[in-house]
Parts: sequence; C-alpha cells; structure tokens
Amino acid sequence: MRILVAEDEAALSEQLAAALGTAGYAVDCAVDGERADFLGRTEGYDAVVLDLGLPKVDGLTLLRRWRESGIGTPVLVLTARGSWHEKVLGIDGGADDYMAKPFEIEEVLARLRALIRRASGQVTPAITIGALVLDPRSARVSLAGVPVKLTSHEFRVLSYLMHHRGRIVSQGELTEHIYSQGFDRDSNTVEVFVARLRRKLGGSLIATVRGMGYRIEEPA
Ligand code: CA
Repeated sequence: MRILVAEDEAALSEQLAAALGTAGYAVDCAVDGERADFLGRTEGYDAVVLDLGLPKVDGLTLLRRWRESGIGTPVLVLTARGSWHEKVLGIDGGADDYMAKPFEIEEVLARLRALIRRASGQVTPAITIGALVLDPRSARVSLAGVPVKLTSHEFRVLSYLMHHRGRIVSQGELTEHIYSQGFDRDSNTVEVFVARLRRKLGGSLIATVRGMGYRIEEPA
C-alpha cells in the first residue's frame, strides 16, 4: 500500500513519512500543492494525507479538483487547530476524514488504516484469508497462528492483494502500489516477490491469472 503525504512543514512531513514507512507503507512526500497534484494524478495511492495550508495550490482547491476529475482516493485532511470552518470545508470538499493539528501520529495511522479498510470493503481491522492473517496495525502476518517474516516489499505485495482479494491485480498495478516515487522500478521484481511469498505462505495462495496478473481468493 502506498500513501502520499502533502505537507509543507518539513519536520511534520518527515515524521509522518517515517511513521508510515515503519507501518509498512510506501510513502511519497509533496511539499506544495502543485507537486501533490502532479503525484496524485500520475501515481497510484491508497490514501492521501493532505494539509489544507499548502503553498502554490492550497489543499482545499486541490481536493476539489481531484474530486471533480473523478479521483476518489481516500483523503485525510490536516487542518489548523480549532478551525471548525476548515473541517467543514474539507469534508464538503471531498475529504474522508480530518485531523486537527497538533495530532498524535498514532491517531493519523489509525485513521488511515480505517480509510483504507473502508475503501477496500473490509470490516475488520485484520484481514483473514483461510489460515492467513494480515494485521495492518502491527504490519504483521501470521499463518495458522505462526508469525511469518516478510520483507517490506513482500508485505506490501501481500497487503495490496489481500486488500483487493477476489480481484485480478496486474503486475503494473502492484508495482505502482509497492514502490515510492523515484525508486528504481522493475515489474519483474514483482514476480520475485510473489515467488518468495508462495515459498513462505504456500504455493496455492496467490493464483497467477495468465496474461492478466495475480489474485488471492478465499479458499473453498
Ligand atoms: Ca501548511
């Protein structure tokens, strides 16, 4: 899963990026509204943290533009402290949730997990498929109760497929959702990650749909 952080306060942006990275997400940062707009339109994000007070293009204008052009990515807006007016504008502008500054990073993470969960139709915090459990709260995976050690990229591949269970996910889509911007991407490496996941989790878990991609399905 991949998240865009659009925040111009460097310290806050770095703090968010570090926490999200630790929580298992690929993260990109934008320091102004123009950059955020470009990234939001050209890259595949599972959620966006959007500061409303951004230079060049403010967050609210950006959010309205995205929604008008049909970009439905879940957005958590960051508002100035005590500004109920900003919250109302943000929500009416298409935000899915908001946080007032200053905030606890843990709460931002929890709210993002909830947004991603809702967007993928999950109702429980952990995703269970047969004996396999992925818990986004701890970024941990277990199989039949036994913890499975995954690299960050393996975790992202598995998390994306599990969040989109039952659907065919192409290699290109997977590639887009597991790497940060500027990372040297090679769609062949997705095959490598899938092969490793199969070794760790059993060969039948991730199906290859020839010429189309991969799919995880509930065992019959
Ligand atoms: Ca700001």
